[in-house]
Amino acid sequence: MSSMSRRRFLTLMVAGLGAAACGTQSDGTATTVAPTASSIPPPTTAPTTSTTAPVTSTTSSTTTTSAMPPPEQIDVICKEAWGALPVAGDFTPHAIDRITIHHTAVLLEENALAPARLRQHQAFHQSRGWPDLAYHFMIDAAGNVYEGRPVDAVGDTGTDYDPTGHLLICCEGNFDEQELPPPQYETLIQMVAWGAAQYGVAPASVQGHRDVAATNCPGDRLYGPIADGTLAGDVAAVLGEDREPTVICGEAAFDRVAEIEGSGA
Ligand SMILES: [Zn+2]
Repeated sequence: MSSMSRRRFLTLMVAGLGAAACGTQSDGTATTVAPTASSIPPPTTAPTTSTTAPVTSTTSSTTTTSAMPPPEQIDVICKEAWGALPVAGDFTPHAIDRITIHHTAVLLEENALAPARLRQHQAFHQSRGWPDLAYHFMIDAAGNVYEGRPVDAVGDTGTDYDPTGHLLICCEGNFDEQELPPPQYETLIQMVAWGAAQYGVAPASVQGHRDVAATNCPGDRLYGPIADGTLAGDVAAVLGEDREPTVICGEAAFDRVAEIEGSGA
């Protein structure tokens, strides 16, 4: 079962990127970047590829509402569902051998804004000439995970390090200015545990962006648990649980995004 879902997951992750622009993004300006809407495939068309997931029936929109995915799976909201633009360039393949944590450096006061922020980040990253969102996975304040650049593609960065080999996991928010929400941290633990097991990365070696480049990323409050070993300990504690990120798409994923955007939380 788990090998199945892993295979499915890898198959799905077709495009991705990584890199961090933490801090370089002019952030606040988010509102200027608009609406990718026009280029986003309408919910009804995209989905089917069926990529999907174990996640239950597509008909009952309420089923997936819970923020807690089933124990064996970490739902990853597909790019179509969060409104990603098409990939705009070629990816460079790589093999992951380390994990690096980022923040977006943009204060996230309402999680309902998370999907819109993602669209802005991706548009901004593509405006820099990058093919896609710089990161492989994004985690919002409520602990939802979003599909970014394919994991087998090197990420991008506006800073001075080579992201080749780095699995880039980015938490939405500015953790120099805001606290790290517990649900976001819980999901980070699960994602890092998966990455550590999948790629043979020692939990103690998981680093923050600032460990490899001149940046404040991932912000003091997110860097704290990385630097003092708390994250490594929390990851080690769940290593055997074998939860895997699984991309969900189709109606279930679109409903999830609509729910997040309408939550106001
Ligand atoms: Zn970063």
